[in-house]
Amino acid sequence: MREAPPVLTEFHIGIDDTDSRLAGCTTYTAALLFQELVSQGFKPLDFPWLVRLNPNIPWKTRGNGALSLHLSMEDGRLEEVKKIAVAAVERTSDLNQRATDPAVVFLKGLISNSLREFSARALHDILSVREARQIAKDAGAEAHLLKGSRGLVGALASVGADLDHDHTFEIIAYRTHEYIRSVRKVSQNSVRLMNEMYQGSTFNNVDPETGRILICPHGPDPVLFGIRGENPVVLTEAFNQVDVGEPIERVMIFKTNQGTDAHLNCPRTVQALRPYQSAIIAGKVGDAPRRIRGGHVIFGTIDETGTIDCAAYSTTGDVRDIALQLIPGDSVAVSGGIRPRPLGELTLNIERLKVTRLVDAIRWENPPCSKCGARCESMGKGQGFRCRRCKLRFPRTIRIRKLDGRTIRLGEYLPPPRAHRHLTKPACRYGISLPRSPEKHNLATKQTLESLVLIPRAA
Ligand SMILES: [Zn+2]
Repeated sequence: MREAPPVLTEFHIGIDDTDSRLAGCTTYTAALLFQELVSQGFKPLDFPWLVRLNPNIPWKTRGNGALSLHLSMEDGRLEEVKKIAVAAVERTSDLNQRATDPAVVFLKGLISNSLREFSARALHDILSVREARQIAKDAGAEAHLLKGSRGLVGALASVGADLDHDHTFEIIAYRTHEYIRSVRKVSQNSVRLMNEMYQGSTFNNVDPETGRILICPHGPDPVLFGIRGENPVVLTEAFNQVDVGEPIERVMIFKTNQGTDAHLNCPRTVQALRPYQSAIIAGKVGDAPRRIRGGHVIFGTIDETGTIDCAAYSTTGDVRDIALQLIPGDSVAVSGGIRPRPLGELTLNIERLKVTRLVDAIRWENPPCSKCGARCESMGKGQGFRCRRCKLRFPRTIRIRKLDGRTIRLGEYLPPPRAHRHLTKPACRYGISLPRSPEKHNLATKQTLESLVLIPRAA
């Protein structure tokens, strides 16, 4: 008699916060774990996911990223996987850092709707550990907390993330330990060339205005460089165009929500705003924009529930320049992070500015003198006008209404790539956000997974 085929189950692992401000990187932990599991014969269902969560939470390290791995496996090996995962996290976490609170979450079976909702909210809201515990309990997820419990929110949220619709990929090369504190040896010219060759299929390699290379981080973390793009196969080609003068410890491709604006999809009213949310407010410009110290621009946006100050920082380039040209009554949709101010009021720091309607800019001019044609002067509020030369007087009703031409255009304005956050959707991705056929995509993923998961590369 033939043996029955083993019953395979979905198994999900979520990891958050193994990095600190000084060293480490959660993506490295995930890459290490993923490659270890694959080498031991475990079958991944997808690339590892790099899920960026609400970037406006101030207490999160750097990019607020969490990672998740998705496997298809026999029940009998679950304990083995858990052991390998916890060991990998312990090995790569710097537990002495105060800000590091690593958490690992294990979940067997399908993702529940309540977990999906939790993950969706983690993109733009503030979620409590208490709520995360409840969701984990309801979903039957098992949590391993290495220190505090704050990492639970991210670990859980990464497991339930929605990458079925819009998503991108990032290929990341890691440095060997002995190079971590030295300057990254990556040829800038080769990066510029790669950027030209793969324009449209990769993004944010080089800042177009300054020519600055954006693929290398600057801190003492293990990432040598990372290239972001639409397709894992094209990313490996782009990756091979970059000349590197130091050994590469390993390479990994992640599926991610980077470059999708996933955090800016939640329209809210002014009244409902809370500190550190990411939000979209649609309304009318209230106070005229004013320039403040540092070159930043502030204006009020009014909706039917209230008014909020919106700040366009000087680093936001176009966004700041456009903000300065708005006038009261213009219709806008402002997206960004909500910051509290000392007296309790809130400010929205603009990450994306959409101008949806422009009002006429009206200017009132004093009338010309009917005798000599010179411009009259006002005799004071409500007092009418007088020609200085002829001394003729005119009633106040004859002021002339002039329309000033508006130079700004309706449309969506973004900061330059150098000021982008991980989640910011770059201009080149506009128009490709529609859900792609999941079937077609899964097929491509399956083939590329087999061939791309472990990329050998000579240093
Ligand atoms: Zn006159």
